[in-house]
Amino acid sequence: MNRSIKKVAVIGSGVMGSRIACHFANIGVDVLLLDIAAPAIPQGGKGSVGKNQIVHDALQTAIKSNPAPLYDKAFAKRIAIGNLEDDIQKIADADWIIEVIVERLDIKAKLFDNVEKFRKPGTLITSNTSGIPIHLMNEGRSNDFKKHFCGTHFFNPPRYLKLLEIIPTPETDKNVVDFLMEYGQLYLGKTTVLCNDTPAFIANRIGVFGIMSLFHLVEKMKLTVDEVDRLTGTVIGRPKSATFRTCDVVGLDTLVHVANGVAASCPNDEQKNVFALPTFIQKMVENKWLGSKTEQGFFKKVKSADGKSEIHSLNLETLEYALAARVKFASVDEAKKIEDLPSRLKVLISAKDKAGEFYRTSFLNLFSYVSYRLQEIASGDLFKIDDAMCAGFGWELGPFEMWDALGLQEMLALMKQENIAVDAWVNDMVANGNTAFYKYIDNAKCYYDANTKSYKQIPGAGKIIALEPLKKTNKIWSNAGASIIDIGDGIINLEFHSKMNTIGSEIIAGIHKAIDTAEKDFSGLVIYNNGANFSAGANLGMVFMFAVEQEWDELNFAIKAFQNAMMRVRYSSIPVVVAPHNMALGGGCEMSMHADKVQAHAELYMGLVEFGVGVIPGGGGTKEFALRASDAFFEGDLELATLKEKFLTIGMAKVSTSAQEAFNLGYLRKGIDEISINRSHQLHDAKLECMEIASKGYTKPVMRKDIKVLGKQALGMFYAGANTMYSGHYISEHDKKISEKLGYVLCGGDLSQPTLVSENYLLDLEREAFLSLCGEKKTLERMQSILTGGKVLRN
Ligand code: NAD
Repeated sequence: MNRSIKKVAVIGSGVMGSRIACHFANIGVDVLLLDIAAPAIPQGGKGSVGKNQIVHDALQTAIKSNPAPLYDKAFAKRIAIGNLEDDIQKIADADWIIEVIVERLDIKAKLFDNVEKFRKPGTLITSNTSGIPIHLMNEGRSNDFKKHFCGTHFFNPPRYLKLLEIIPTPETDKNVVDFLMEYGQLYLGKTTVLCNDTPAFIANRIGVFGIMSLFHLVEKMKLTVDEVDRLTGTVIGRPKSATFRTCDVVGLDTLVHVANGVAASCPNDEQKNVFALPTFIQKMVENKWLGSKTEQGFFKKVKSADGKSEIHSLNLETLEYALAARVKFASVDEAKKIEDLPSRLKVLISAKDKAGEFYRTSFLNLFSYVSYRLQEIASGDLFKIDDAMCAGFGWELGPFEMWDALGLQEMLALMKQENIAVDAWVNDMVANGNTAFYKYIDNAKCYYDANTKSYKQIPGAGKIIALEPLKKTNKIWSNAGASIIDIGDGIINLEFHSKMNTIGSEIIAGIHKAIDTAEKDFSGLVIYNNGANFSAGANLGMVFMFAVEQEWDELNFAIKAFQNAMMRVRYSSIPVVVAPHNMALGGGCEMSMHADKVQAHAELYMGLVEFGVGVIPGGGGTKEFALRASDAFFEGDLELATLKEKFLTIGMAKVSTSAQEAFNLGYLRKGIDEISINRSHQLHDAKLECMEIASKGYTKPVMRKDIKVLGKQALGMFYAGANTMYSGHYISEHDKKISEKLGYVLCGGDLSQPTLVSENYLLDLEREAFLSLCGEKKTLERMQSILTGGKVLRN
């Protein structure tokens, strides 16, 4: 059956339901969000929405929450609300009904009785339960319901956490499962993981095991909350919130609920004792120290005597809070200097100090646990466990990937030495001469399938281009900041790998080299990388150094080189597709603005933020906004209003909170640029776009000389506006100066009448303004503030 999802009914508008509704609205689906009818609220009172009060309030809370669940607040209009008394019949129009109500089987069953009365046969019906066995919800249901029913377990917050666990029952139609696995990836941008209907499914079973075993280890090794968070955060490729801060965010009650559920329903789990709550956790639950939701947990915000906010952490022995201590482990400090995670993990696990002992015990226990769980929770498909942990818990490497990184045999030897058991299939696999859980065969990532005892390609890998293995076999060129990799079908990729992917001379050299190479031997170029962020912008340190030393010729040369590189992205004889993700600031934004096409990840925080460091965009960003405003004039938009909008976007250093918003801000171009919702597919999508543009016979574009600038006609407006803002104390004197320079470039200078100018004319103006601002003391103070403390100074 060819299914399409035009309308989704989400039942339950609490923490999860309201945000799941928002994520469907993000992708353009109409949503009906239902909850119980509000009792005894008089209809028509001020602000009253009658029986819809509960669902109304829940949705409003979600929309205002941080991080934002919607790509664009305007998408809220795609969500209609209703209550289960008056509106349940409307589910008849839905293509998919998702149950997200309280975690009680009897209440869910009662709701399903009602759903059965109105649901059209064939409609998908799924539950977001995190703990109730899916098959129990099938009891008493019709055959059509059973065929179309399974678990769809989203993680909180659903927009941002990539995992979607799909949990069928034996009665779920295989086509339904296949559809949900595909839909989740392609439309919702998720990593879909097919799970068995076992307690806590995959991610929570392993994740909560990890946390619970850590709780016990902390007691045994007498480690503090601060020490553990230092040991279990970014240094081992886990989120910055590490262990205890993550527990506070998730809520200790949620964690305890999962742990108790596993302890009660897994009598055959050889490590079931790990899920028993240590005394300090029991006391914390009794005291309602559940984390952020009760304003104290493992950490607590406290006002000091002088009124300053301080973070205090819990002493797990005395259960008293004290100012968080600075923690030092020599081995961790040393390891932090190592860029590559696998090498870092090797150093950590072999450290001779307390940290080393901690890592050996916790890693080896985790490896042991996943070896025994493989069949039960993942039917022998080890990639599912890694996918679930990376997408659901934000780990850089899943347990089997970590094990590979540390050496399969080396870890087995250590486990033997430490008397930690491992399931037979691992020894068997090694005895048969296999040395890793994963390997690449013809550039496709393959996993060891414990059932057939052979390597198999990971399903769905067709849309994933893995740069890492390609770098080993297909690297064409590299320097310290960038690499060029042949990604097949006539397309090469330029990857950045400088610190925070800031753009300095090495990346500039990389751009020229990549375009030269593509023009000679290939048909297109993609600029994409796997860093945490696409790019934090131009190398500010270098600009600051030249400015402090008053090396104006060098600075002029460097800015010109940057502009030239951006113009080369725009004007070459091959198509250039830029594929940014997360932060693309300053120069990262300017580079995208010069591409033939941007293939953006949906999570894109893009902006021309140069005002914050006391300058205007100098890598073609200001020029590009003048050009885009001019194009809008020709399409009939009001000239002054359009120009003013561009001025404010730069002047307020606006950063998009999603790719969708980057369109609204004018950084991305409607009708040209596109969004990949699934980050894992982004490079594949960008490559296809590049191939398509090339296949239509791409030729070098003609340099623009038809940019209409308004000169004095608009300049007065900017000067007067800046002056009013300054007089009203909304902006500083220095902001006024930068604003005037920005206005000057956007207007093409003080020309006496509207004139058509070239890109080079505007680039010269832009560079002059940039350089003159670098000569200002207050600009240098702003740059220094960012470089030394990462803080924006508005002096
Ligand atoms: P919640 O308490 O925030 O929301 C529950 C909603 O159910 C409320 O809006 C409530 O009005 C509604 N409700 C209560 N009684 C009802 C009834 N008799 N009929 C219909 N609706 C009723 O809970 P939540 O955290 O959003 O969790 C909802 C589901 O999602 C649960 O099954 C939970 O296990 C699962 N889940 C939660 C999380 C999480 O982090 N919170 C993560 C994954 C899955």
